[in-house]
Amino acid sequence: MYTKRIGKKLYQVELNTGGIKQLICSYIIAGSKPLLVESGPTNSVPNLLLGIQELGIAPQAIEYVAITHVHLDHGGGAGTLLKHLPNAKVLVHPHGMPHLIDPRRLWSSSQEVLGFVSEIFGKPEPVQEERIIPLTEGTFDLGDGGKLCVLETLGHASHNLSFHESFNGGVFPGDAAGTYIPDCDVVVPTTPPPFYLDLALASLDKLIALKPSALYFSHFGKADDAVNRLRDYKVQIQLWADIAEEGVKHNRSLEQIRDNIIKQDPVMTIIADYVKAHRIYSKTVLENCVRGFMDYAKRKLEKQQS
Ligand SMILES: [Zn+2]
Repeated sequence: MYTKRIGKKLYQVELNTGGIKQLICSYIIAGSKPLLVESGPTNSVPNLLLGIQELGIAPQAIEYVAITHVHLDHGGGAGTLLKHLPNAKVLVHPHGMPHLIDPRRLWSSSQEVLGFVSEIFGKPEPVQEERIIPLTEGTFDLGDGGKLCVLETLGHASHNLSFHESFNGGVFPGDAAGTYIPDCDVVVPTTPPPFYLDLALASLDKLIALKPSALYFSHFGKADDAVNRLRDYKVQIQLWADIAEEGVKHNRSLEQIRDNIIKQDPVMTIIADYVKAHRIYSKTVLENCVRGFMDYAKRKLEKQQS
């Protein structure tokens, strides 16, 4: 079983990318006009197709694949997926569109930043321009009286979108609300460089204003108590930013700043061992995300000095 029902007309698909469970999921909103959220990475597109099959949805019935952003783990598989969905178009932020049409630069920079993780995700294939709908807002008919609203939620990436679905009132934040670790019921930052704290905080306010009933994390799964989680995430990223700023001012290394974060963030003190032992999160959360805050802190410091 790849799919799990998580709400009215709403299914989560475990992509099991690289054989790793609870890392990345896609979602299917199965109204009379079925829509996918996140293609996921190239290497797990076959699992997503099996999930679609499991629900008895005909591939030609899918009109839209909404991707929150083009990073390999969210939209990297779009080109491969569309080969199997003859009538589908991709919804993406305009700044992400060039990377779907020609993913070569995205692939080389991902290899640089993610190292071995990029190989687990797989190389993206191009999407034909006429199959892309660039947008920063809009509403899509899901059939059966449902609709999907698009919101611009920048910060994690310069082109992160979130989607609100009306069947249950939940939100797909992409990486705008952190990474949810369901086993431990906590959220940790997802903030690789270039990370923009002010934009990220403003995006979280935008999501809080919607009063969503749930968050559907791409990493990983549905979490209730959405508004409190979004508020807590604001506090958490502000704390990481403060620790990084203090560290950068004192020329501390990435490892020292990381260790200070683990000591001072009450969530990290609980989850540090789990994250350290995780094949992917040890690289992304404890290295790239800390680097994102250091990069933010350096930019802020340079601005103050100039
Ligand atoms: Zn991600």
